[in-house]
Amino acid sequence: MEAKYIFVTGGVVSSLGKGIISASLACLLKARGYRVTIQKFDPYINIDPGTLNPYEHGECYVTVDGHEADLDLGHYERFTNVQTTRANNVTTGRIYQSVIDKERRGDYLGKTVQIIPHITDEIKRNVKMLGNTGQYDFVITEIGGTVGDIESLPFLEAVRQLRWELGTDALCLHLTYVPYLKAAKELKTKPTQNSVKQLQHIGIQPDILVLRTEKDIPQDMRRKIAQFCNVAPDAVVQSIDRPTIYEVPIMMHEQHLDEIVLKKMDVDFKGQPDMAPWLEFLYKLQEAEEEVTIGLVGKYVELQDAYKSINEALFQAATYSDHKLNLKYIHSEKLTDANAEELLGELDGVIIAPGFGQRGIEGKFAALKYCRTHDIPTFGICLGMQCMVIEFARNVLGYADANSTEMNPTVQHNVIDLMEEQKSVSNMGGTMRLGAYECALRPESRVARAYGSTTVSERHRHRFEFNNAYRDQFERAGMQCVGENPATHLVEVVELPDKRWFVGTQYHPEYSSTVLNPNPLFIDFVKAAIEYGRERAEKK
Ligand code: GLN
Repeated sequence: MEAKYIFVTGGVVSSLGKGIISASLACLLKARGYRVTIQKFDPYINIDPGTLNPYEHGECYVTVDGHEADLDLGHYERFTNVQTTRANNVTTGRIYQSVIDKERRGDYLGKTVQIIPHITDEIKRNVKMLGNTGQYDFVITEIGGTVGDIESLPFLEAVRQLRWELGTDALCLHLTYVPYLKAAKELKTKPTQNSVKQLQHIGIQPDILVLRTEKDIPQDMRRKIAQFCNVAPDAVVQSIDRPTIYEVPIMMHEQHLDEIVLKKMDVDFKGQPDMAPWLEFLYKLQEAEEEVTIGLVGKYVELQDAYKSINEALFQAATYSDHKLNLKYIHSEKLTDANAEELLGELDGVIIAPGFGQRGIEGKFAALKYCRTHDIPTFGICLGMQCMVIEFARNVLGYADANSTEMNPTVQHNVIDLMEEQKSVSNMGGTMRLGAYECALRPESRVARAYGSTTVSERHRHRFEFNNAYRDQFERAGMQCVGENPATHLVEVVELPDKRWFVGTQYHPEYSSTVLNPNPLFIDFVKAAIEYGRERAEKK
């Protein structure tokens, strides 16, 4: 069938979870056997979120083809098990860049270049790009921001035009908020009514409303909203807060969201989505009683979204290991040799987070020294792996000054150094070593056993690398370089085989971990942490 387009907009306030609703709907359609993809259009002027710091925008996600993307693409992959690419995340900046390039080339043949039709046409071309590949039955397009924002207007105008042109091959789902006023003991529908009016004013009539709420919205109130907003009563669905986002697809299915969509889009369908593996995951989650306690050492620990993919990968691994995840954030700036015992002593496993720059780095070294000498299962990711190498160089090889040239450009023992290909780079945006690269693993390594394979492909986002001039010295002293890129010999994985579990990866295995296909390295790490926890409990 021709691709059908579902547009997801949001109103009243931001952070309502448009990404989760889009991903949940995609998950249900996929479980019905349809080919589905989700794309996000972000109304900011940055070309991509790669240059935004986590305080601005949370984690930067990375696609297999090396695009630095909005973290919602992580949700899309975790919920659908379908990989995304550069085409799945477009910003206002990308749209304008492309229009301005065309104008400079003379493609507009002397015309005045305007928001309508030139910007809106470019948006429409991007909306339809994935649909036109013939690879998808449904393309879900999430429009970032909140209806009423100035910057999302051109996107909404493009949606209005597409809705008109595509007829029943397009559908609009609007997510709003129904607040509960404690003092009045009442749920309030007015913000939803106003937000739908704003959409209607732009010329978009939503087909489906999803109401985010903390309390159950009674049927008569839903009918009232339907009536005020020109929406069919059965197409008003509530999204009540759940303990985990992974329950949202089930909650949407219970209210027939997938069927409503298929009916409205004139799709013949039979039966129910096959959610058996998903329900199995939720069942494990519900049944888990014992806890595994993992510490995450990083400098953005006060931000909920800064390490999103790591949190989710750990959560999936703990659930599949029949344990509840107790994740403790440890601020690397507050960690020292003196308080390492107090902050890390009771943990079953420690993750040393990715990152950039000097801030908090000494705390990561202190954590690693403690974990290594106390044999705590430890997983270093990207900068975390680089810190493992530096700490080992300082405290085992005896190079007290050892560092990355990122932190100290003139350091003598530059055990982590700028990659050759990065030396000529001057632009910061989109120029790191990005995306999936192959990695060859030594067959006897813990990592190869965990993956059950000696070649893997994982995603990257870095400029610095293990300095191969030191490789022999590290290996003789016990730190093995067990994974490397077969073409460039860049060290991808280090491990200390004489420890319980001490592994660092230059790549980010968290990006590829999904609910139905959790990452094997996270599973192996969490298993080692559980075992270590048991050993300690037995000794007590
Ligand atoms: N700052 C380091 C580098 O650029 C690590 C990056 C990361 O952790 N993503 O190589």
